[in-house]
Amino acid sequence: MKRFFIIFGMLVLLALLPAEVYADRLGYVRTVVIDPGHGGHEPGAVGRKVKEKDLTLAISLKVGEYIKENLPDVKVIYTRDTDKHVELRDRTRIANENQADLFISIHCNSVTNRSAYGTETFVMGPHRNQANLEVAKLENASILYEDNYLEAYDGYDPNSPESNIIFTLFQNAYLNQSLTIASLVQDQFRERARRVDRGVKQAGFLVLYRATMPAILVETGFISNAREEEYLASEEGQNHIASAIYRAFRDYKTSQDQLAAAHEQQMLASANTQSQLSQPATPNPPARQSQQNTQPANNIHSNSDIVFKVQFASTSTLMPPDSPEFMGLQNVEFYFHDGLYKYTVGNETSLESAAALQERVQRAGLRDAFVVAFQNNDRISPAEAVRLINQRTIKP
Ligand SMILES: [Zn+2]
Repeated sequence: MKRFFIIFGMLVLLALLPAEVYADRLGYVRTVVIDPGHGGHEPGAVGRKVKEKDLTLAISLKVGEYIKENLPDVKVIYTRDTDKHVELRDRTRIANENQADLFISIHCNSVTNRSAYGTETFVMGPHRNQANLEVAKLENASILYEDNYLEAYDGYDPNSPESNIIFTLFQNAYLNQSLTIASLVQDQFRERARRVDRGVKQAGFLVLYRATMPAILVETGFISNAREEEYLASEEGQNHIASAIYRAFRDYKTSQDQLAAAHEQQMLASANTQSQLSQPATPNPPARQSQQNTQPANNIHSNSDIVFKVQFASTSTLMPPDSPEFMGLQNVEFYFHDGLYKYTVGNETSLESAAALQERVQRAGLRDAFVVAFQNNDRISPAEAVRLINQRTIKP
């Protein structure tokens, strides 16, 4: 009976989550919370020579130092900077209370198969296989060192199979951006640190599920593998791993900041246009359209495989394009994603014009409209789209 209530409670919680969970966070990256896994009387994985809690602390402090040195406009907050125990819920709370723009939890892997090695980065979401679930279960077992964990984590019980399945239905609200930073980390591990790339994965991690910002959990290598333990314990290995995470953060910040700056400019420009026109009581989308067409052409028109659209609604059953809920918008398209029909307008080749369109859609009464991006019909984050476009424009 107790189990029933726990599961019921979790389902109620899930039902309260917003249907549209893919909003992107728009803004400059100014605060990062770095979370060294485990600590104090909770050692994490234990190798032949070292403990996970010491490696995660050493690597985390190095990541923070690189950021402070090279990106002075970023505030670095650690969930711990000494060898002490911090409960999982407090780690997320620190990030939420400081309104961090990104949460990075740093860990080391451990499995009974001692030949396994390599790096992987997780975001919150449903696991695709048993191995991913095992990683989450192992990391989540930290709560066994905490009091009242059933109450504290919405009934999550690391030993209950049902609990693990239901728990995977939670997703970070910023899944796209979490996936973007996760793949940047794995790119750096593979290309710069020359580590084996086991990929970007999803599983239900207690340390991530309440984060109100993009959040990742990095497994920097297997402490259970003798060679990798040696590497992770060495100064050189820690420097490589930390600088890879730093570089990924730097690239993520660059693309997010560009996005935020573009949005800011757009808002400024439209505020100016507004005051010049100053014609109250005539909401005139067509006039704004022609206004926009007179702007100088952007130099990214050749990147037509990347498009920005404005998403304004999602429903569980398909609605006809002339539905009154669509406020008379023309050329409405939809795509099906994670069990929902999602409706968009526009086919913009630049973020600027997408932001302008978003504004018109919002003025039409669809205030929750936001910009989404696609590459060859696959949904990617706008930040990733901007990064890809910039990459191509920079090339000679
Ligand atoms: Zn760990």
